Amino acid sequence: MPTAFVTDITGQDGQHLAEFLHSQGYHVFGMVKGQNNPRVEALQAELPFVELVPGDLADLPSLVAALQMAQPDEVYNLGAISFVALSFSQAELTANITGLGVLRMLEAVRMVGGATNNPIRFYQASSSEMCGQVRETPQTELTPFHPRSPYGCAKVFGHDIVVNYRESYGMHASSGILFNHEGPRRGIEFVTRKVTNAVARIKLGLQDEVVLGNLDSKRDWGFAGDYVKGMWLMLQQDQPDDYVIATHESHSVREFAEEAFRLVNLRWQDFVTVDKRFSRPLDVNYLQGNYTKAYQHLGWKPEITFNRLVEIMVTEDLNRWKRWQRGEHFPWDASHHLNEARILTRSLKV
Ligand code: NAP
Repeated sequence: MPTAFVTDITGQDGQHLAEFLHSQGYHVFGMVKGQNNPRVEALQAELPFVELVPGDLADLPSLVAALQMAQPDEVYNLGAISFVALSFSQAELTANITGLGVLRMLEAVRMVGGATNNPIRFYQASSSEMCGQVRETPQTELTPFHPRSPYGCAKVFGHDIVVNYRESYGMHASSGILFNHEGPRRGIEFVTRKVTNAVARIKLGLQDEVVLGNLDSKRDWGFAGDYVKGMWLMLQQDQPDDYVIATHESHSVREFAEEAFRLVNLRWQDFVTVDKRFSRPLDVNYLQGNYTKAYQHLGWKPEITFNRLVEIMVTEDLNRWKRWQRGEHFPWDASHHLNEARILTRSLKV
């Protein structure tokens, strides 16, 4: 049975990936940080087949110990401070976890798998935010990086150090330059989920409005469940490489909100308020990815369309809040993320 080690097991992608790997017959280890991580209990209920291992991307010895325990064939390094808005106010932490954390994980792989002929295959979660102030459209693997946030800068370091370890030590290390991907497991601090959660609550009479920042920001939005298959496919290739994973379509925040409200027969203009305080100090205005290389080399392409993605998210949030109204157990991610979101939206420009 092949063994996979996943950081971000409490995050959106880690959970989709764990489910996918499990369906492929993998033994999945998931790394969890903190001495009393509030997400563990729910995670164990939702993904009982995942074996949890303690570790923190800020702490190299803990990564070495975790890999020694798991003895993985494949390492998926998805853990990060992933929220772009937060990276502006916690730039050093973001550089440490999202940037240097990649270096630590590569070193841990080298220490556990050996300095030469290392059998462990490595995947790094790179990001379209590295392209930032885009130099060409659509963006490919060769588009120059021009990040527009501390998050994007940290991801560029992570991406470059993966290339460097691949070329220096012959490691089977690949990066997926993933464009935005969403789904019902998306943290509520992210704009898509903030919208679908608000749409559900407004429809059910639990909320009056939703306050957003830049409605004109355009993103290439896909479904997380599709994207984790691309990660896995990269590690099944004989040669490591970097691939853009995207839909090749770009939609604005306004379009996302319009579609989400339309699905519940409401007009977005009646409920969306714009507050410039919710805009970032510096934004990425337009992202659109070209996934031709992933299609040609991996046979990967997105399955879920933009409209279907919005529908999946709105439907799931409606169901969650309906269950809550019936007095059923509050959905773990909503309760946890809702508290997070309240704190964040009070103190941050989300
Ligand atoms: P997410 O839901 O925000 O999850 C982030 C994960 O990182 C959580 O499991 C979190 O653990 C973990 N983490 C944070 N600090 C850590 C630390 N010090 N040590 C170990 N783990 C730590 O992220 P996601 O959406 O699944 O994204 C997965 C990866 O893909 C991230 O690297 C993200 O930057 C990248 N990416 C995402 C997108 C997207 O659109 N989703 C696009 C491009 C790239 P806790 O739960 O314990 O805090």
